[in-house]
Amino acid sequence: ETIRIAIDGPSGAGKSTIARAVAEKLGYDYIDTGAMYRAVGYKMNQQGVSIEEEEKLKAMLEETEIDYRSGVIYLDGADVSSKIRTPEVSMAASACAASPAVRTKLVEEQRAIGHKTNVVMDGRDIGTNVFTDAQYKFFLTATAEERAHRRCRELQEKGQEVNFSDTLKDIEQRDYNDSHRALNPLCKAEDAIEVDSTHLTINETINKIYEYITN
Ligand code: C5P
Repeated sequence: ETIRIAIDGPSGAGKSTIARAVAEKLGYDYIDTGAMYRAVGYKMNQQGVSIEEEEKLKAMLEETEIDYRSGVIYLDGADVSSKIRTPEVSMAASACAASPAVRTKLVEEQRAIGHKTNVVMDGRDIGTNVFTDAQYKFFLTATAEERAHRRCRELQEKGQEVNFSDTLKDIEQRDYNDSHRALNPLCKAEDAIEVDSTHLTINETINKIYEYITN
């Protein structure tokens, strides 16, 4: 049997950084499920498909191949890693994540990956839906303000212009979308360990999670 470690939590809590580092320490594969939703959102934007157009969306999904390998997200065979980190794609991803057709397709793919190799998988519904039987579940949080500060710093480092209040609004909007959708809303699994990173450094957070797993 494979070992599956779920790391869920709201946008900007540092899940991907933490999950990638924990996976590396353990020698497991790291799977960023948010990147999969982003790739679908990106394609919907490109093709002008909205989630209200159910038939069009289903037809698009039938001809869509999403793959996540070695830290790279592939959409129909092309590496779209650098195209999915924009505010527009963040919003599109959050919107398409409410679609049952999108979730069914991506969850199926995620389960297949986790049953093939040991994984650290980050997302919103890994512990509550994708792998309810995960051997370890973590729920990583931080205040919305702290998450907005971190996101601003990250964008600034990339030389992008930032606006704190817009970033905070974005994060709050995504929190709302993620926790109010009908299907697999964001919530802590009963058996997940909550880790609040507001006052922790990245390394402290990584070590805390790593120690839970290895002790
Ligand atoms: O984690 P990230 O911000 O890249 O995820 C993008 C969007 O994908 C989130 O806003 C969320 O709505 C959605 N998502 C999801 N379930 C997951 C991972 C991401 O609904 N397991």
